[in-house]
Amino acid sequence: MHRITVIGAGFGALTAVRELRRHDQTAEITLIAPKAELIYLPSLIWIPAGIRQPEDLRINLHAFFATHKVKHVAARVTAIEQGGRRVVTDGDTAVDNDGLIIAAGGRFLKKLPGIEHAITICEGIEAAVTIRDRLNDMQNGTIAVGFGANPKEPASVRGGPMFELLFGLDNLLKRQGRRDKFKLVFFNGASRPGARLGDKAVDRLLDEMKKRDIETRLGHKPVRFEADKVVTEAEEFPADLILFMPGMTGPDFAPSSGLALSSGGLIQADEHARATGAERVYVAGDSGSFPGPEWAPKQAHMADLQAEAAARNLLDELTGREPTHTFKTELVCIIDTLETGILVFRNPKRGFITPPSRLLHFAKRSFEHNYLQRYRRPKPMR
Ligand SMILES: Cc1cc2nc3c(=O)[nH]c(=O)nc-3n(C[C@H](O)[C@H](O)[C@H](O)COP(=O)(O)OP(=O)(O)OC[C@H]3O[C@@H](n4cnc5c(N)ncnc54)[C@H](O)[C@@H]3O)c2cc1C
Repeated sequence: MHRITVIGAGFGALTAVRELRRHDQTAEITLIAPKAELIYLPSLIWIPAGIRQPEDLRINLHAFFATHKVKHVAARVTAIEQGGRRVVTDGDTAVDNDGLIIAAGGRFLKKLPGIEHAITICEGIEAAVTIRDRLNDMQNGTIAVGFGANPKEPASVRGGPMFELLFGLDNLLKRQGRRDKFKLVFFNGASRPGARLGDKAVDRLLDEMKKRDIETRLGHKPVRFEADKVVTEAEEFPADLILFMPGMTGPDFAPSSGLALSSGGLIQADEHARATGAERVYVAGDSGSFPGPEWAPKQAHMADLQAEAAARNLLDELTGREPTHTFKTELVCIIDTLETGILVFRNPKRGFITPPSRLLHFAKRSFEHNYLQRYRRPKPMR
């Protein structure tokens, strides 16, 4: 019986578990994550508007673990030793394995001076609730929204949710009849932010900002935040609420793990999602740096695709076969505005962006519902 350890309880980790169980009913699967819960991050953008409550996005995984015969170790991983064969946790336990899948997500580079004055929604439910509460307390003012990149690995960035927040706030304030009391400012170090979505998408997003009377401050990197202002390389401007997504790097246990890292500090993987140079160690999702086009997204969808390949390849390796499963790279994203959605699609052959549509807003809501059913009402894998 193979002993497999999975790190994380997010998109990549849980998809890996499903795929492992689909192909191996007997493997002993141990999943290490602080809590037996999945946080459905893509819907955090709906918390400030009250479309979702915190508990809607916190999915209890006890039933999923029982159905798939997963042993959950409730702890944080602090170290990986012996080339991946031993995983050490803050609970002072060490879990030995025959195969390892790392899906511990990314970490934000919170190095800018004054970063404590900015809220990063991707940090989770608490951050989204803080935005909601701060907004409710404000009578008027300027809201500055921006995102940064990992300077050593520009692909390790997440801009989509910040566009969603920006357009969502515009619609929310209009709905509340107080948009005229607020100034919305979008700032970014690039003169064409969101370039990975494709040229047409950038044009559409900038047009949308103009249409909505959202001021843009582009082409100058932020250098620091203060309680009431954003300071960039070129200027400073007042801000009563700063929403900022820094660039991402790999998990905190990565640097000491002995695994190969990318220039940006993520776990380097190959086209089979295998950690480069390691034996029976795989990575999926935001923890990893993968070969592929420069626009390859850091998305839940990619985490799922990589996790499927990782699980299949690990099982192959454990049974003496060469890993051959690869994953496709595609960007599929509905940029939601609370009322409409804009679909952005990109793969190596083509890319397109649709006009805003009410239908796409509901498609995003229904995708969430369907996706989460597998964890709310798990069924055994056949
Ligand atoms: C606001 C927002 C909107 C988004 N919108 C979309 C969207 O519309 N579409 C899309 O495809 N993607 C979207 N994303 C991106 C998507 O959520 C991420 O790409 C995805 O969550 C990555 O999956 P993952 O498995 O790599 O990591 P995560 O889902 O972040 O999971 C990481 C897991 O690892 C655990 N963990 C972390 N550190 C440790 C440790 N040391 N030891 C043990 N466990 C650890 C965490 O607790 C968590 O369970 C959005 C993200 C945000 C924040």
